[in-house]
Amino acid sequence: MTSGSRLIERMKARIADGEVFHSFEYFPPAKESGRKSLQVRVDRMADMSPLFVDVTARAGNLEDTLRLCSDIIRFCGVDVMMHVTSAGLARADLVDLLQRALEAGITNVLALGGDPAGKTLRPSGDFAHALDMVRAIREDFGDAFTIAVGCYPEGLGPLSSNESWTENRARHIGYLKEKVLAGADFAITQAVFDASLFVNFVRDCHQAGVSADFPILPGIMPIHNYKGLKSIVSDLNVSLPETFESALAPIQNDTGAVMSKGIELIGDLCAELLSSDVTAGLHFYTFNLEYAVRQLVEKRLALDAKQVLPWRQSANPRRLEEDVRPIFWANRPKSYLMRTEGWDQFPSGRWGSGQPGENFAMLPDSEPMFSRETFFQRQDIMRKAWGEAPQTEQEIFEVFAGFLEGRVPFLPWCEESLHLETSQIRDKLVALNRAGYLTINSQPRVNAAPSSSPDFGWGPGGGYVYQKAYIEFFTSPRHLRRLMDLLESPEFSGRSLVYHAVDHRGNTYSNDKQAKPCAVTWGVFPGKEVIQPTVVDPDTFLVWKDEAFGLWVRGWASIYEEDSSSYNLLYDMHDGYFLVNIVDNDFIDGDIFDLFDRLVAGREHGGHEETYHGYEYDQTSGNLTHYQLEDWASASQADVQGNESSTTHYYENNSFYPEQNRHYSEQDAQAFLRSSSSSSNNNNNNNNNNIDDDSASVATHEAYGYDAYSVASSYYDSQGGELGHGYDAVPSSSASAYGGDYYEHKMAENGYSGYESATVYAHTPSHMGYSSRTDMSSRSAPPPPYYNDQHGSSIHSSYYDQGYAEYYRREQERQRLLQAQQEEALQSSSEVPNIFSLTRHNRYDDVEALFDAGIAVDTRDALGNTVLCIACQNGLKRIAKLALRRGANINAQNYRGNSPLHFCYMYQYGDTLGAYLLSKGADPMLVNSDGRRSHELE
Ligand SMILES: Cc1cc2nc3c(=O)[nH]c(=O)nc-3n(C[C@H](O)[C@H](O)[C@H](O)COP(=O)(O)OP(=O)(O)OC[C@H]3O[C@@H](n4cnc5c(N)ncnc54)[C@H](O)[C@@H]3O)c2cc1C
Repeated sequence: MTSGSRLIERMKARIADGEVFHSFEYFPPAKESGRKSLQVRVDRMADMSPLFVDVTARAGNLEDTLRLCSDIIRFCGVDVMMHVTSAGLARADLVDLLQRALEAGITNVLALGGDPAGKTLRPSGDFAHALDMVRAIREDFGDAFTIAVGCYPEGLGPLSSNESWTENRARHIGYLKEKVLAGADFAITQAVFDASLFVNFVRDCHQAGVSADFPILPGIMPIHNYKGLKSIVSDLNVSLPETFESALAPIQNDTGAVMSKGIELIGDLCAELLSSDVTAGLHFYTFNLEYAVRQLVEKRLALDAKQVLPWRQSANPRRLEEDVRPIFWANRPKSYLMRTEGWDQFPSGRWGSGQPGENFAMLPDSEPMFSRETFFQRQDIMRKAWGEAPQTEQEIFEVFAGFLEGRVPFLPWCEESLHLETSQIRDKLVALNRAGYLTINSQPRVNAAPSSSPDFGWGPGGGYVYQKAYIEFFTSPRHLRRLMDLLESPEFSGRSLVYHAVDHRGNTYSNDKQAKPCAVTWGVFPGKEVIQPTVVDPDTFLVWKDEAFGLWVRGWASIYEEDSSSYNLLYDMHDGYFLVNIVDNDFIDGDIFDLFDRLVAGREHGGHEETYHGYEYDQTSGNLTHYQLEDWASASQADVQGNESSTTHYYENNSFYPEQNRHYSEQDAQAFLRSSSSSSNNNNNNNNNNIDDDSASVATHEAYGYDAYSVASSYYDSQGGELGHGYDAVPSSSASAYGGDYYEHKMAENGYSGYESATVYAHTPSHMGYSSRTDMSSRSAPPPPYYNDQHGSSIHSSYYDQGYAEYYRREQERQRLLQAQQEEALQSSSEVPNIFSLTRHNRYDDVEALFDAGIAVDTRDALGNTVLCIACQNGLKRIAKLALRRGANINAQNYRGNSPLHFCYMYQYGDTLGAYLLSKGADPMLVNSDGRRSHELE
């Protein structure tokens, strides 16, 4: 939002720039639960960047409207317009209402006459017509409000005696003109289905004296079902073109088909309206539903979302100047808004030092999290997403990885789905998470991307934007130790990587000598000063850490029974882990993942076999005093050598004490490296780019004087089954220990005739070399999770992908064959097509008879829908139950990925049939081919 500008000014600026815009209308739900979920939906739909949203009013009850508008402006960051109906309203009440609206940050009003409540006569009030209210608002509030009014391209009934519709229409154009003269800023029409009617109306308004720069927005009504459409058209007395009628009437009983056709028809209408020269904006009557509007805005019209800053600005006028925020709340913006709500001033230009911790309000206990989906706030759904009963840290790591991969819809720390820009570093992040660096916030480095860049761009056109790479994560003391060691090593100490780490008690570690706020996002634009909207501030990090640590417990552990093992696991992670942020100040050439790739690779040194000795705390201060970890890898290597050896990291009194006890000779080390070298050279299929070269290993060895090496391996059978992994350590001087030779040896030993993947590692404590052979082309199943876990880091991915590509090619082929077979089966049975039509018409007995006659319950129609899918499209619970009793697949997805649950939400049966399916085990996490989960289709 341009600072300080009114809605009408921004709208006119868009029109002047030839930019198309859109807006959404909602109505206040009657129930509290409905109000909450609507707020979530409004927030989600704000992704489509409406210029404003508006909330309808019922004459005699304007409070619900005010309340919803206030909530939207507080948490959704979109500009809101409040409908105010004049019927029965006293002027004093109007003044009181609008004063409260201003206090809540609402500065736009749609001034309407209002439909009479029920069938009663218009109640008397101080305003005969909306016109009088427009005058009153201007008299009492000057320009504080942008005022919109309603208008009617086909006239507004009832007709006066002897009046024709043409006369009625002209009369209302006259009223509109009076409203414009009284101070209205723009108008929105009654629903329009015929573009030419609208275009002629606007032209007639101009002819009648309405100024040409007075915006008139067409009201667009998406079609959800045929009956609803017909009754709206008749209630509003608007024309439905014959093309609509002839396209929809024949399919009126197929709700799915009506909706798809409706999107096509309304899409064409919108395109025609926008190609006329009379409007640049479209106003959607959403009926509080998302699916059809989203399809229209994103798919049919591809209306651009314009981002002013990297984060969504608040529409609250008190925050208009705000243009700097700490990066920590990037994925919990509502929490940030709530915690800073009471501030008198918001940082602008730069993040000052005047934002001490106590200025951040505490979060109310009743709002432990701000998931954008009330749907996901249900504990059963949260458990489905995050694990029914996780027992190990590795399972928790997998949830974080799942979030990045889109399988887990949100995390306590990330209420929004992954940002587009983050998706560019997703693979790297996934590997990090699987290795125990649990990322909750990140951004890649950007050096002068155009401000129009779809991935990184923000701000006015013609500018350039910049970012420093940033990663924020939770990790164990052990992993933090590794990070700190690596940052101090000669290789990294000269780099401009700055970190801050803190545990939940406030023990901190950092290499930041300045300890000052540091801009991590900035932009340079023509004719403007540099804008730096995102900073890392060490002081504010300590405020954020309380909230971030609290979420382990309030946001996650609390979904499990108190004192259960899952609860305790999460509690332990809260107690033992550190929250770390790290900035790479080299935004030109830096690669923050150098560091993390090394950490992930280094993790293999310890493998999964490390032994924890738990955490100990000082009884009085509560500080972590002792932490001990035995490194299995070194120990087993020592076993092979016949020596006693282990590596133990101690954490004591806020410091780490690695204690190393190694018994390998320099001679052994050199011999190992020689053997590695000869093996690598013999194996041309290895991805040598990814293999640390041996001379580097020697150099590292010499530089640090380490004398410990180990060899590790993993191997799988051709079905993806894991045969063995871990540190099958062998004497490092043995040439046969290396690479495929070792595998073949191992395979023979285990009675297997071949190997798919063989990887061998050579380690020093700070350096790792490895070589591998792989032959995944015969893979017939995806690799097991462990395989991902062990090898998911990007350094392995090139050879890994070769096998995957082949696997997926064959998998796709298999799917195509399956589909062809099904379609063939469909045609060979004349009864099959019938079952779908019978389902649609709710012919329960006939459907049951066909099942009895042997039609497979999961038989599919041409779009891949099963009977259960069709039943869900039409809200037919009895047939849905019948299909389920007959063993229907509750999660059967059609060829566009929509499951029965998707259809329940898409056709507004989410609360009824959808809830039933959920209770029967339907999977709410399934995504369709648009990447959407069921509840996102409402
Ligand atoms: C975009 C839009 C949003 C709407 N939102 C709502 C809502 O939230 N809640 C709701 O209850 N209704 C809503 N309506 C419906 C609207 O309130 C009704 O259609 C209402 O009957 C007319 O509203 P108006 O603003 O045109 O009222 P007015 O302009 O006050 O007109 C009311 C009646 O008075 C007559 N009239 C108007 N001016 C004069 C005049 N100068 N002299 C003599 N007669 C006059 C008109 O013919 C009309 O019959 C909306 C309509 C539109 C177009």
